[in-house]
Amino acid sequence: MMQNDVVVIGGGISGLSLSYYCAQAGMKTTLLEKNESVGGSFASPQYSSNGKKFWMELGAHTCYSSYRNLLDIVEGCGLKSAIIARAKVPFSLFVDGKIRSLVSRLNILELLVSVPNLFTLKKTGLSVRSYYSKIVGEQNYQEVIRHFFNAVPSQETDDFPADMMFKSRQKRKDVLKNYTFKNGLQSVARAISAKSGLNVFTSQDVTSVVYKDGLYEIRSAGGGEYSAKTIVLATPSSVASRLLKDVEPALASHLGQLKAADVDSVGVIVRKENVKLKPVAAIISPDDVFFSVVSRDTVPDDNYRGFVFHFQPGLDEKTKRSRITEVLGVGFSKIEHTEAKLNTVPTLQLNHHQWLEKTDQLLKDKKRVLLTGNYFGGMAIEDCVSRSKSEFARLKA
Ligand SMILES: Cc1cc2nc3c(=O)[nH]c(=O)nc-3n(C[C@H](O)[C@H](O)[C@H](O)COP(=O)(O)OP(=O)(O)OC[C@H]3O[C@@H](n4cnc5c(N)ncnc54)[C@H](O)[C@@H]3O)c2cc1C
Repeated sequence: MMQNDVVVIGGGISGLSLSYYCAQAGMKTTLLEKNESVGGSFASPQYSSNGKKFWMELGAHTCYSSYRNLLDIVEGCGLKSAIIARAKVPFSLFVDGKIRSLVSRLNILELLVSVPNLFTLKKTGLSVRSYYSKIVGEQNYQEVIRHFFNAVPSQETDDFPADMMFKSRQKRKDVLKNYTFKNGLQSVARAISAKSGLNVFTSQDVTSVVYKDGLYEIRSAGGGEYSAKTIVLATPSSVASRLLKDVEPALASHLGQLKAADVDSVGVIVRKENVKLKPVAAIISPDDVFFSVVSRDTVPDDNYRGFVFHFQPGLDEKTKRSRITEVLGVGFSKIEHTEAKLNTVPTLQLNHHQWLEKTDQLLKDKKRVLLTGNYFGGMAIEDCVSRSKSEFARLKA
C-alpha cells in the first residue's frame, strides 16, 4: 500500500489547489481522480483536424483579476504568460425562438428607481431573490436578471444566499480584469498536476476509506490502495459523505444534508462558415431545457466556433440535438465534433451559513480530515482555492 503524508480525493481545482499547497510544503502528497484527466469543472477538451486545433470549455470559462489565490498558484506553476484576454462579446437571451439583447429586455425606468438600493441594502441574510429584486426591480428580476443568475450554477437560484454569488474581492492591477488561458482553464489543472512532489493518479474512483493504526486507508474501484496520515475530501459533498460514513459518521451525515444539481454539458464545434449567429459570450434561455449556451467567441478562432449547452440532466439525445440545431440554426450534419461532461454544482440555501458553522464545529478537533470544494465560501474558482488555502492552514496549525 502506497504510503503518503496526504491523500487528496478529487482532482478539480479544489483538490488540485490543496495538493499544490501540501506538495510545496514538502509533504508527500497523492491526488486521486475518478476521471481520465484532472480538472473536474475545468474541462477544456482539445480538438484537432487537418492540423487545425481548437478547444472549448465544458465547465468554467472565466477568471478575474480578483482571483488572487488562484493567481499565486498560476505564477507558482509558471503559467502567468499563458493568460489571455477574452474578447468583449455580449450576453444574449433566447426568447420566442430568437436571440435578443439582454439590455433590450430591461425596464430602464424600474432599474433607475431601484438601483440606489445598491448603496444601502446589505446582502447578509437575504436570498438572491429578495436582494436583487430590490436592486434591479421586481419585474426586471423576474423577467431578465433571474435567468442570468440561474445560468451561473445551471439551476434555480432564488433561494441562494445573496452574499455567496458575485462577491466583490480586491483586484490585482497587473492582471487583466477577466481572462482565460491559451489552451483553456484546464491548462491550470495540468500545470498543477505536473508539479514535482505531487503524485497524480487518474481513473481512480475512490470507493472506501477506513482508519487503521493511525492511518487512513483509501481504496479505489480499480484495486488501487493508498494510505495517508491526512485525508482530503475534494469531491461533491454527497461523495465526501459516502466516503466518510465509517470513519467520521457525524460529519458524513452532516455532509449528506447538502443538495447538489447535475448539469449535462454538451459542447459542439462548428466550422465558422456554417453558423450565422452573431458573436456572443453566452445565450441565456429562460424556462427552457438548457440554462445557457457558453460560446468560444470570447477567444475567436480562424476556423471554428464552439458552443457548450448546459442542459438540465436526464434529457434524451434527440431532445438535446434538436435544441442545439434550432438555437444555432445549423443542420446536425454541420456539427463537426461533440464533447459531453456531467458537472455537479451545489444547491445553496439561505441557511448555508449555519450549515457551515456546524461543519467548522465538526471539523474542529479533526486536523487529519480536510474538506474542500465549491460548497463552502461560494462556488467561484477563487472560493474553491481560498477554501483549500484555509484547510491547508488548519493542517499546518
Ligand atoms: C458549467 C460551469 C461553469 C462555471 N463557470 C465558472 C466561471 O466561469 N468562473 C468561476 O469562477 N467559476 C465557474 N464555475 C464554478 C467552478 O468552476 C466550480 O465551482 C469549480 O471548478 C469546482 O471545483 P471543485 O474541485 O470543487 O469540484 P469539481 O470540479 O466538481 O471536482 C471534483 C472532482 O472530484 C472527482 N471525484 C468525484 N468522486 C470521486 C471519487 N469517488 N474518487 C475520485 N475522484 C472523484 C470528480 O471527477 C471531479 O474531478 C462554473 C461551474 C460550472 C459547472
